Amino acid sequence: MRLLIEKAEKTHSLGKDEIAALLHDEDSTQALLQAADRTRAAFVGQDVHLRALIEFSNYCRQNCCYCGIRRDNKQADRYRLKPQEIIMHAAAAAKMGYRTVVMQSGEDVYFTVDRLTEIIREIKKMDMAVTLSIGEKSYEEYQAYRNAGADRYLLRIETTDKELYHRLDPGMSWDNRCRCLMDLKSLGYELGSGSMVGLPGQSIESIADDILFFKKIGVDMAGIGPFIPHAQTPLADAEGRAFTLSLKTMAITRLLMPDINIPATTAMETLNPNGRIIALNSGANVVMPNVTQGEYRKMYELYPGKICVNDTPARCRTCIGAKILSIGRTIGSGKGFRGEFLKENQQ
Ligand code: SAH
Repeated sequence: MRLLIEKAEKTHSLGKDEIAALLHDEDSTQALLQAADRTRAAFVGQDVHLRALIEFSNYCRQNCCYCGIRRDNKQADRYRLKPQEIIMHAAAAAKMGYRTVVMQSGEDVYFTVDRLTEIIREIKKMDMAVTLSIGEKSYEEYQAYRNAGADRYLLRIETTDKELYHRLDPGMSWDNRCRCLMDLKSLGYELGSGSMVGLPGQSIESIADDILFFKKIGVDMAGIGPFIPHAQTPLADAEGRAFTLSLKTMAITRLLMPDINIPATTAMETLNPNGRIIALNSGANVVMPNVTQGEYRKMYELYPGKICVNDTPARCRTCIGAKILSIGRTIGSGKGFRGEFLKENQQ
């Protein structure tokens, strides 16, 4: 295993069997996480980039079996922020020093192209990078958002096991999700994708495929988090909660794609009170603090036990800021696009 880790650290390349062997092995976990941390330091530096997450609607037309805001969850209290409220959330985030807002929601048809492009244009006036995470759309819609100024897009592939994907995402098509990722890339978005780890029926080998998929399509960001079962979904009794396996998947992704942005995901903190700091010490370099206000934080319940639902945006910013400084890292002052650190340090 040591040789495999060395190879990954030197060449940033591993085959599927090699990745699977690392994921299976339990004795080499610490060495793997440490190698990912060194690679993170060398390729993206000490800065942790903060992205302000606005969860602006939990209405969703999709019915993903793992997700608490799926269409058929009649117990979910639905909400959507008014366009003006979203803009106010973004302004408050800018005032707190954030340079990026991530607008995330279920697939809510209320937000038409006209409504969303208007919101994006207003936020762009605040000199913020805008990331969208609003699901599957047509090429034309992605193009309209890009023209309005959106910089990045997050769309996890969730799993590269097509059969598993179709079982867990009824009515959706894996090929269409890929089409979306290709469209987003061709439109010049910084492309974020990612996966869940520990899905029922997911094999280690398919997780190895997930990592190779991120590399093949050339993602600029990869968000990897543990699947956490939600009681009001068909997967209520599934196991999930694979913290260490998620960390290792993230660490190998860092080794193979040394200069991309990798968030320490909120789901990791849900499983371990120090989860994001552990992730930041194992290859991650981004955190997405929640800036959604009030009761909505609770209502955007993709999975149970979501952290900080009773907190305020200001307290979350202070809390995570202090944690980041306490491990000797710094908070990025720029927009944190991929490759910035390498460019600056080559001059
Ligand atoms: N509708 C948007 C945003 C989805 S929510 C989209 O389709 O991209 C963001 C991510 O939360 C999902 O991509 C999924 O990977 C994750 N997620 C959903 N339910 C989850 C659960 N039960 N446990 C862990 N992560 C979950």
